[in-house]
Amino acid sequence: MRDNCARWLGPGDPESLSAALATRFTQVFEREAEGVWFAPGRANLNGEHIDFHGGRCLPMALRHGTYVAAAAREDGLLRVRTLDSQLDSGIIEIHDDAGSPAEANFPSWTTYVWGVLQSLRECDPEYDELHLRSGFGADVLIRSTLPIGAGLSSSASLECAVALALVGTGSPLGEEHGGEDFTRALTDELRAVLAQVCIRAETEYVGAGTGGLDQTASLRGAAGKLVSLDCRDFTVKRSDISFLLRDYRFIAVETGQPHELADGRFAARRAESEAAAALLGVKQLREALPEKPKKPNVELTLEEFDRLVDEGGDLGGHDAGACRRRLKHALTEMLRSEKIHKLLFGEAHGVDDTAEMIGDLMAGGHTSMRDYAEVSFEVADRMVETALSAGATGARLIGGGFGGSVLLLVRKNRVDAVTAALTKLSEQLRFLDAVPSAPARAV
Ligand code: ADP
Repeated sequence: MRDNCARWLGPGDPESLSAALATRFTQVFEREAEGVWFAPGRANLNGEHIDFHGGRCLPMALRHGTYVAAAAREDGLLRVRTLDSQLDSGIIEIHDDAGSPAEANFPSWTTYVWGVLQSLRECDPEYDELHLRSGFGADVLIRSTLPIGAGLSSSASLECAVALALVGTGSPLGEEHGGEDFTRALTDELRAVLAQVCIRAETEYVGAGTGGLDQTASLRGAAGKLVSLDCRDFTVKRSDISFLLRDYRFIAVETGQPHELADGRFAARRAESEAAAALLGVKQLREALPEKPKKPNVELTLEEFDRLVDEGGDLGGHDAGACRRRLKHALTEMLRSEKIHKLLFGEAHGVDDTAEMIGDLMAGGHTSMRDYAEVSFEVADRMVETALSAGATGARLIGGGFGGSVLLLVRKNRVDAVTAALTKLSEQLRFLDAVPSAPARAV
C-alpha cells in the first residue's frame, strides 16, 4: 500500500490486454483478428527539440503503449476503430481511392493509421519482405494504455503498432512468421526501416515536425536499457541501466495539460532554430557545435551567431533574440546528451554519483526548456521545483512541451515523499513508472 493518494497509471498485463482486444475485435468486426501487436511509448531522458538537428537523444521504450488487433482484407478497404473513450466514434471506413482522411473530414487520428499504410506502400524496394501485397486492406482495432497528448508519444506508438499489424497481416514477413517468431524475425535493420516508414507517415501524411526520436525508441528500445540515438544517421547504442534501477526509479508525471504538437508553436520553435542553422551555414545544428580546441564549445558558436546578426545576416524574418535562444537550447541540450552518453558508456562512477550527475543534467535540461526553448509552462515549472525540494534527484519537462509530462529520477526510498508533495500541488496529476522495456512486438 502506498501511504499517499497519488494516482498511478499501470501498464496492465500484456497477455490479458491482448486477449481482451482480440475478443473485442470479433465483436466489433464480426470476424477474428489474425493477431495483436504492441508498440511502446517513450520517455526521453535528454535530447528534446534536437532530433531534427542531428543531435543525440536518450530515450527509453516504456511498458505503456498501444495495442492493435488486425485482420487483412483483400478489397483495399481500411476499417479502423479506436477504443479510446474520447476519440471513439465507431468504425471509420477509408476507401483506398478516397485520398487523405483529413480531406474527407474523418477524425484526425485516422490520418496516423492511413499515413502508415501509405508510407508502407512506398517502403524501400530493397526490403521486399515488408511489402504489402496488392489490394491489401485491413480491419484495425486500437487500444492504448498511455495517456494521450502527454508527451509520452502515444502518436508514435500508434504508428509503430499499426506498422507491425499491417506488416504482420499483409507482407511476406507476416505470412512466414507469426507471434513471437514474427518478433524475432524483425531484425534491427528491419526495425530501422519501419521507423523510417513511421517517421514518413508523421512528417508527410500527418504533417507534424518529428525528427524520428519517438519512432526509433518505440521500435528499437530494449528492456532494462536506455537508447542512445545519434540522429545524424539513426545509429543506436543501448546502455544497460539496471545498475541504476536497483536503487532509483524513473517516474513520468502527467501534468494534465495536453499538448498539441501539430499546432503552430512547436513548428515556430523549430523554424527559429532552423533559421539560426541557416545563418550559421549548416543544415543541422549538430554541425554548428565546433570541437575546438578539444571540447565542443557553445560560446564560440553563439559569438559567431551574434557576429553574423550584427553584419545583417538573414534570419528569414524571425526575431534574432528568439533564434539565439533556440540555438542555445539546441547546443546545450546536445552537450548534455553527450555527457550522459559518456557517463553511461564510458566513465565508471558509483551508483549515487551517476544518479546525481544525471539529475543535475536533467535540471539543466529543464531550465533550458524553460528559458531557451521556451516550451515549458507554469505547472511543469512548479512540479520540477516541488519534486526537487521533496528529494527527487532529477526532474525535467519531456516531450515537445507546451503541455505533457515531467520525468523524475527518484531514489526508491524517496518516492513516497516526492509523489506526496506533487499530489499536494494537484490531485489530478497521474504517475507512471517509466521502466525501460522491450520494443514493438507481437503479443
Ligand atoms: P503524444 O505526446 O501523446 O504523442 P500527440 O499530440 O503527438 O501526443 O499525439 C496524440 C494524438 O495521437 C491523438 O490526438 C490522436 O490523434 C493520436 N492517438 C494516440 N493514441 C491514440 C489512440 N489510442 N487512438 C486513436 N488515436 C490516438
